[in-house]
Amino acid sequence: MAKNKNQTKLRIIPLGGVDEIGKNMTALEYGNDILVIDCGSMFPKEDLYGIDLVIPDVSYLEKNADKIRAFVITHGHEDHIGAIPYVFQKINPPIYCTRLTQALIESKLKEYNLPKKIHVQCIKPRDTVKLGCFEVEFIKTNHSISGAVALAVRTPVGTVIHTGDFKVDYTPVDGEVIDLATFARYGEEGVLLLMSDSTNAEREGFTMSESKVGECFEKYFDEGEDRRIIIATFASNIHRIQQIIDSAQKHGRKVCFMGRSMENVTGIAAELGELNVDPKQIITQDKAESMPKEQVVIITTGSQGEPMSGLYRLAAGDNSRVKLTKGDMVIVSASAIPGNERMVYRVINNLYRLGVIVIYEALDAVHVSGHACKEELKLILSLTNPRYFMPVHGEYRHLMQHALLAEKMGHDSRDIFMPEIGKVLELNRKEAKFNGSVPAGSVLVDGLGIGDVGNVVLRDRRVLSQDGLVVVCVTLSGIDASLLTEPDIISRGFIYMKDNEDLIQHSKQIVQELIEDLRADKLRDWPYIKNEIRHQLKDYLYAKTKRTPMILPMIIEI
Ligand SMILES: [Zn+2]
Ligand SMILES: [Zn+2]
Repeated sequence: MAKNKNQTKLRIIPLGGVDEIGKNMTALEYGNDILVIDCGSMFPKEDLYGIDLVIPDVSYLEKNADKIRAFVITHGHEDHIGAIPYVFQKINPPIYCTRLTQALIESKLKEYNLPKKIHVQCIKPRDTVKLGCFEVEFIKTNHSISGAVALAVRTPVGTVIHTGDFKVDYTPVDGEVIDLATFARYGEEGVLLLMSDSTNAEREGFTMSESKVGECFEKYFDEGEDRRIIIATFASNIHRIQQIIDSAQKHGRKVCFMGRSMENVTGIAAELGELNVDPKQIITQDKAESMPKEQVVIITTGSQGEPMSGLYRLAAGDNSRVKLTKGDMVIVSASAIPGNERMVYRVINNLYRLGVIVIYEALDAVHVSGHACKEELKLILSLTNPRYFMPVHGEYRHLMQHALLAEKMGHDSRDIFMPEIGKVLELNRKEAKFNGSVPAGSVLVDGLGIGDVGNVVLRDRRVLSQDGLVVVCVTLSGIDASLLTEPDIISRGFIYMKDNEDLIQHSKQIVQELIEDLRADKLRDWPYIKNEIRHQLKDYLYAKTKRTPMILPMIIEI
């Protein structure tokens, strides 16, 4: 038995979050125990037509459900908790996380109304929990949401440190600096593997402190003394919101929260005591509109220009309660997540058109990142001094830069492992190597359907969105399969039919001739007839329009 145990290796299985930004999830497996770190989702890229959300493929976890001792969640951002309502439909291990993360997960679960109870256990930094053969200690970090933790996982073959998302903030808003002492303690003891956040691995220096943003807000509260101030930021950035509330208090302004997630998250955070706000300072949107401008701050969602968000509607003049007017000051306190730039700039352009003063990241330090830059990454690497290193949380270029950084610091390139989704890293005290893989990848969520939209459906959606749809209705006689009426053609998103009567007429003719010329043995072969209609029309329409709409033949027999 003991001998057998010595042969067991620790398996590190990234199920998401590497070679991509989003849907973070990593499994640690040893013998009969699996521990899962994070359970995130990702917004779909533009080529995923109509898909709402992308989540990790967890078929490996479902297959080994009885081995899973727990999920530990590093913090409450969507790329770390967003997949929980989907993944937990088939498995149900306990979840461990800090207080705010717990509240955000529970509010999410309530929304999805899952039939079974999911146990979300609250822990504090420096707590230790035993989960199967793993012992996990939670380490306080700084990030753009409260309650972020790194994890030190003691395993039978050595300690694994996973940083979660982090930065090193020496002047954080809550006064609690990342627990560097604990990182150092593990470094002294010996760390087998470090997995560390690579998001900003391309950036030199240090990430600025969150309190710098507070100083910048102060400046604009002074400058915009007689103006109404509207600030858009992420609802989850409680420290940012705290700084706005503090400035508002100091300048004698009331605060109005706008947008569903802003109201929801600030409500939760205030209840937990994570957000310090006097209820008397909070006003409704109606009040915000009727009060003197210089006495109001509106804190809203929509910093990514998302359609229907608070700021989007304000910029579009689409909020029935609050109307922006010339001279109002809007601060967009966020940077555009890659892919969102166009939406953000559209909103900013619309705000300028309203005569509003707009301050955004390109103009001033109204935002700082929540992720560590090179110097901070080096600090964690040197404090923990790991035997092996695996960069995580980033696209390939970020992971690569992080790996190069570790190499520069003297880590042997053979001890650095570039992760891939599903690729298993096996290690013991003496060696580490990639060995095999597990089924892994992406599952697409569309409305209530999880994973039921495959490549064929996506291809159809692409064709529909690019070239439209042509429906061909053919009515055949039940007696001799002859055409009873002229074929009918309807199109959507292809061409304007009234202006293209010749094209439609000729298309009808093609279908009519095709049916009249059918060989006797094909008269009732509907799949064959449909295919012929599709092929012949496709060739004709392409020749005439250089477009390939989706062609949908329908045959009715009466
Ligand atoms: Zn995060
Ligand atoms: Zn993240």
